Amino acid sequence: MNKNYIIPNEWSIIEDGFDAENVEASESLFSIGNGSMGQRANFEEDYSGKTFQGSYIGGIYYPDKTRVGWWKNGYPEYFAKVLNAPNWIGISIQINQTSLDINTCKIANFKRELNMKEGWLSRSFEAVLPTGEEIEVFTKRFISVKHNEVGAIEYHVKALNFSGEITFSPYLDAGIMNEDTNYDEYFWETLQIVEGENKGCILSKTLKTEFHVGTAMDVSFAINRKAVEVHQETTIEEKSITYNYKLNIAEGETATIYKYGSYVSSLNYKNEALIAVALANVSEAKTLGFETLLFNQVQSWAEIWKTADIVIEGDVKAQQGIRFNIFQLNQTYMGTDARLNIGPKGFTGEKYGGSTYWDTEAYCIPFYMATKNASVAKNLLLYRYNQLDKAIENAEKLGFKNGAALYPMVTMNGEECHNEWEITFEEIHRNGAMVYGIYNYVNYTNDFDYIPKYGMEVMIAIARFWHQRANYSAAKDQYVILGVTGPNEYENNINNNFYTNYLAKWCIEFATKCLNKIEQEYSADFKRVIEKTNLSSEEIAEWSKVASNMYFPFDEEKKVYLQQDGFLDKEIIPVSDLPKSERPINQKWSWDRILRSCYIKQADVLQGMFLFENRFSKDELERHFDFYEPLTVHESSLSPCVHSILAASIDRMPKAYEQYVRTARLDLDDYNHEVHEGCHITSMAGTWMSIVQGFGGMRIWEDGVLTFNPQIPAEWESYSFTINFRGNIIKVYKSQTASKFFNESGSEISMMVNNQKILIPSNGQVTV
Ligand code: BGC
Repeated sequence: MNKNYIIPNEWSIIEDGFDAENVEASESLFSIGNGSMGQRANFEEDYSGKTFQGSYIGGIYYPDKTRVGWWKNGYPEYFAKVLNAPNWIGISIQINQTSLDINTCKIANFKRELNMKEGWLSRSFEAVLPTGEEIEVFTKRFISVKHNEVGAIEYHVKALNFSGEITFSPYLDAGIMNEDTNYDEYFWETLQIVEGENKGCILSKTLKTEFHVGTAMDVSFAINRKAVEVHQETTIEEKSITYNYKLNIAEGETATIYKYGSYVSSLNYKNEALIAVALANVSEAKTLGFETLLFNQVQSWAEIWKTADIVIEGDVKAQQGIRFNIFQLNQTYMGTDARLNIGPKGFTGEKYGGSTYWDTEAYCIPFYMATKNASVAKNLLLYRYNQLDKAIENAEKLGFKNGAALYPMVTMNGEECHNEWEITFEEIHRNGAMVYGIYNYVNYTNDFDYIPKYGMEVMIAIARFWHQRANYSAAKDQYVILGVTGPNEYENNINNNFYTNYLAKWCIEFATKCLNKIEQEYSADFKRVIEKTNLSSEEIAEWSKVASNMYFPFDEEKKVYLQQDGFLDKEIIPVSDLPKSERPINQKWSWDRILRSCYIKQADVLQGMFLFENRFSKDELERHFDFYEPLTVHESSLSPCVHSILAASIDRMPKAYEQYVRTARLDLDDYNHEVHEGCHITSMAGTWMSIVQGFGGMRIWEDGVLTFNPQIPAEWESYSFTINFRGNIIKVYKSQTASKFFNESGSEISMMVNNQKILIPSNGQVTV
């Protein structure tokens, strides 16, 4: 059963009423962040119920020693973990010496709101303590986008039926563990604790990676919103610092604490500067004050929403869903730092450890390309370019040579750190996404220069990998790729996965095509690249043999490409015949049963058709969709979006809408029963694509022509989105009766709409 407790609202995520069962799910859903750091929506005050505490800093990780049942040569030594960082939000509260703990109080009128328009989280409730005191609490918290090392909290407690003492005990706690440690170890060492007047700082370092982090706080107080000075008592323990402040208030009065927090790290400063910078950050925040910081926050988010927002009229749940997805993507990555990337759980949980998967290239790049400047997507590509040496090393560890590269399935620093054999060694299709990312970027931005400067080296190394990984089958007189796992991870060690073979062939062909163009048009770069990579025309000819004679499993009778050799030997029973009680199968069935079944975790053949839709006829798309979709359980968050887009492109709008709702509300309605572990951030970019590419029909292939083919679900009155296409800001509006295109930029733009060429003058509009 889906939990379904989030109140529909256009701009906010709202929880009404307290249910301890929902605490961990809400901690994920109400997460806040600013692209550089973020945290789960843990309560500030103590909570003795089940909770999953998490606060994370982009780029700060720990290499947790690999733990597997049976070691296999080639496994990485460690799994890079997103690190749970010192807690700066904590404020223990006592009312006449009784601890405020929602778990032990009678709670009424509990409400939590994540305001996505303005970028803040709030909570309000009334509590009756076990000792009888009644209070009303209101809190607000955000992580500043503008002051991007700072977060702020306001916490108000009103005495409803008593006069007495309220003790606020704000603290910093560096004695933090990850939930998912392999050996139950601490990943942090506390180096120094600094005490000051209302402010304090802890300097910690990560073990092994030796990242240094300064975590600081500064606090101030008010009674009935009027600032007051309060006497401070300090408790310093091995890994924490706590200040105690006692405030006396009369019945009806409100006591407030403002707490400012900051993280600074050795990614950006020298170790010896961290304490001073962190303390300066919180002092500056306190001087600006909560209201000013909040005002700046509202402005920052207004700026983000200008190009990022999608408006849906007539369907509040769909509207809430898309805004939630866009909001979380921005909270995870803003594109200002080429060292960072988009983790599948962002800053909302620990699962999936390392920050970067193929998800970035296969799913996320279009969102960042279209809602921000081209430099943001370029940063994502450069991240991989900068890790090319590691990808080559990674391939060498597996026995490849001559500069062949295998990009990691999961990484923090370029090294592979996944350690399940079927994924580490077999899920090699990820290499294809690296090249697709470049292709997509160049088509969209027209920045072909990226290829001679950077991308070509990546493509050569990947072409070398595919050439070595494929082998000639004398029986077939064709090239085959054996022993792989495709995007559908519910099949392992299979031969000739359609998706993998297709990408391998395409990567070689695209690399060869780019080499030819560069030779003609960028001779200096060509020379440099050829010398650096020691590439000969004989070698290119060898690659081409593989690409031009690649084998694809195909069933002549059904006229469908098979996901892999032997797929039709399976017992083919549609998902609709599976009892509900047996789903999700990854939680109900043995792994062995899953592997033997025909059930598909996520788009696989269809993933290939999605990426190269222009190379397949509508008939082919329909046939493959009708064969594979009924067998797909969508137990990867990355699945429904692809199906929604394909369904729209073959004019199956009800199906497209069904899959849209599933991708957009995957976490809000907890379709896969796992939101307590964190949100599915990377698939949120897929949700964005479901509207822009799916319903809007936006495509840009190699000819660089911007194309739309807008359709609208019957459930909606209208929708509109904005894209930044090569510096032009274009707004697309679709209602049940018309499509309108606004060119909000300075130059005329041409595009194809429903197969017709249209020209829109600068600041003009065209209705179709
Ligand atoms: C999916 C992968 C994906 C990973 C991280 C898995 O469940 O099967 O394709 O890369 O999640 O999102």
